[in-house]
Amino acid sequence: ENKILIRDLKIEYNNKMTQKMKENFLTEMSLRKGLEQEQFELYYQPQVDSVTGKLIGLEGLIRWHHPEEGVKMPGSFLELAESTGLIFPIGEWVIEQAFNQLENWKKQGEDTLTISINISSRHFLAPSFQPFLERCLQKYDVKAEQLIIEITEDVAIEDLEVAKKRILALRTYGFQISIDDFGTGFSAFHYLQHFPVQEIKIDRQFIQDITQNEVSMRIAKSIIDLANMLKLKVVCEGVETAEQCEILQQIGTPILQGYYFSKPMRYQDVCHWWEETKNVAYPSDKK
Ligand code: C2E
Ligand code: MG
Ligand code: MG
Ligand code: MG
Repeated sequence: ENKILIRDLKIEYNNKMTQKMKENFLTEMSLRKGLEQEQFELYYQPQVDSVTGKLIGLEGLIRWHHPEEGVKMPGSFLELAESTGLIFPIGEWVIEQAFNQLENWKKQGEDTLTISINISSRHFLAPSFQPFLERCLQKYDVKAEQLIIEITEDVAIEDLEVAKKRILALRTYGFQISIDDFGTGFSAFHYLQHFPVQEIKIDRQFIQDITQNEVSMRIAKSIIDLANMLKLKVVCEGVETAEQCEILQQIGTPILQGYYFSKPMRYQDVCHWWEETKNVAYPSDKK
């Protein structure tokens, strides 16, 4: 009886594995096709100055226009892109999008806004990463200072030494490096001690209940104070309400990003948003 049970379990397991492998294979094929057929689009979310409410930069967030399934979010395909190595061409595509946009701005006389892009640890540490950026700098008429490269704390786990060297090398070109989801890893301080980055982004989980939870508010304040002491820029992610904005203004002067200002949107919508919000009173002006 036991034998049969184990055999059944094995069959079930194998079936599930085959099913999962089949799904992954199909997704991989359609990811490749998506790249070839340019089904990806970089959406942009505004980052604003907490004091003036003015736009200071955009974060690029990838979307996949799947021919059958509609718009797919990064959470649904990045993991597989990562494990199949497709994250490299995808990352390079994102970098080129950013350079293109920065160059367009420059032609229009706009050369101070920044674009932030997300780069996977695996790609950031790869030998091809830096040469690709160098080629882009040659190809596009863009200042490296306007590109902010967001990495996460796990690059430190992957390879601390390579990561450190990479950050230093990229800085000599003028690129800015930012730590995304700051505080969610297990060694935030270790990170700051070893990595000469210019910016940290406080994760949404610390901002979320800042208005109801005194502890969250104090944690956010300590991170902001720490960033100020280390002369780092600090971005608060996931700002959704006017109340959160006001508290964040009171406890420091970080950069704010979140649905309160806008969801990530297509570039043409960013232009409308920008025009419309230029003259709108900001929460702090309303008093
Ligand atoms: P992230 O870089 O931390 O980006 C923030 C995520 O929070 C985005 O989700 C954004 O749409 C969402 N968000 C922004 N403001 C708010 C808010 O006020 N409330 C809430 N609830 N959410 C908010 P998204 O676009 O689904 O991206 C998820 C993650 O996927 C990103 O997290 C980033 O780690 C990764 N990702 C996105 N685009 C790329 C890319 O081009 N390349 C790579 N390697 N990773 C990317
Ligand atoms: Mg990010
Ligand atoms: Mg984040
Ligand atoms: Mg993230």
